[in-house]
Amino acid sequence: MILPKYSLGIGDRFGRQGRAQLAALVQAQARGVEVTPVWNKSNREHQITRTRPDSVRAEAESAVTALGWRGPYHVDADHITLKTVDPFISCSDFFTIDVADFVGQSAPEADIQDFVTRHRRYATARTIPGMEGALATSPRDIAAIARKYLQAAQEAGDIFRHIEAAKGRDRFVIEVSVDETDEPQTPADLFFILAAIADERIPAQTIAPKFTGHFNKGIDYVGNVAQFERQFNDDIAVIAFAIQEFGLPANLKLSVHSGSDKFSIYGPMAHALRKHDAGLHLKTAGTTWLEEVAGLALAGGDSLRLVQEIYAQAYERIDELCAPYAAVIDIDRTRLPQPGTVRAWSSSEYVAALRHDQESPAYNPHLRQLLHVGFKVAAEMGAEYLQALDASTEVIGRLVTQNLLERHIMRVFLEP
Ligand SMILES: [Zn+2]
Repeated sequence: MILPKYSLGIGDRFGRQGRAQLAALVQAQARGVEVTPVWNKSNREHQITRTRPDSVRAEAESAVTALGWRGPYHVDADHITLKTVDPFISCSDFFTIDVADFVGQSAPEADIQDFVTRHRRYATARTIPGMEGALATSPRDIAAIARKYLQAAQEAGDIFRHIEAAKGRDRFVIEVSVDETDEPQTPADLFFILAAIADERIPAQTIAPKFTGHFNKGIDYVGNVAQFERQFNDDIAVIAFAIQEFGLPANLKLSVHSGSDKFSIYGPMAHALRKHDAGLHLKTAGTTWLEEVAGLALAGGDSLRLVQEIYAQAYERIDELCAPYAAVIDIDRTRLPQPGTVRAWSSSEYVAALRHDQESPAYNPHLRQLLHVGFKVAAEMGAEYLQALDASTEVIGRLVTQNLLERHIMRVFLEP
């Protein structure tokens, strides 16, 4: 099973926007770019929304049928571990193996030395086609990288073999993610992580490193764009080289997590993809939920009151809601409006604060991030929330489609 060159992770917290999401890819196709939809939902999200993994497969199939989509599509068991993977196995054909918890746990010293010996030929300053500068590593550097990542790669191998034993060979796509770590990975780290993945015989088709800078949920990139651009280019070059050196799948590509709304780096990313003729998987789950909230605010009346209430409860429960996402949000609490203020807002005031328009003085990234993690409040509202979604399907769907197409797909995959 081969993942095509361009793919988009389109998670959907409440499983209602599959058609609107797919409509964006249909329109992208009409404009000349094929992007494969991958519906992803993590165990963490399933727990918060109290849904089962097979609901994502059902949503994907229903959208594909409704829109007559003939291209490939996938259902991604996002951020799974050996402990959480089992309920995802039958209904998923894409697995994002998350081994970030094992990063920094050192493998046995004999394994480290064995790894260094096997990869000793890379212990020179070596130029890689397409990479700025050289991949400079000494045996000591390789050992340090192995101490940090080898155990994680071995764990990924165990998870991969567990899935393969259940599903059979070549029946699914594998991504390895190390994005939710404290430290970003350098191109040299990535190269030896890929060596370790190849040693484990994991046919990874996507790899999600942690890039330099902050990839906070639902808001723009925070960091040095030039530094990111260089790293992104170097990572692409390293992947192409690792494919040749280690016999990894020829379509192996980068996966960018928390990839929605990173407007300031989409231009450099688009440029790098064209320059290297490289593929990309971009995960954009949270942005769709925020469009739902915006759509409900726009709908006014009871729907506006509902999203005002979601904000009020999220404000009261900020510690609890932020805890699972601590690494990927950055909220300045002094910049959050009081719930009473938000309760008095009109539709357009609410939408102006929430919508990711950096030109607008009313845009509030702190409120946006709080609402991003506030989907738990909506989940607890249960039927009341879902009925509100159903009552405003059209207005929400329009926002969801437009957001994915114009603000994400076009800027990353279609930029001339
Ligand atoms: Zn992730």
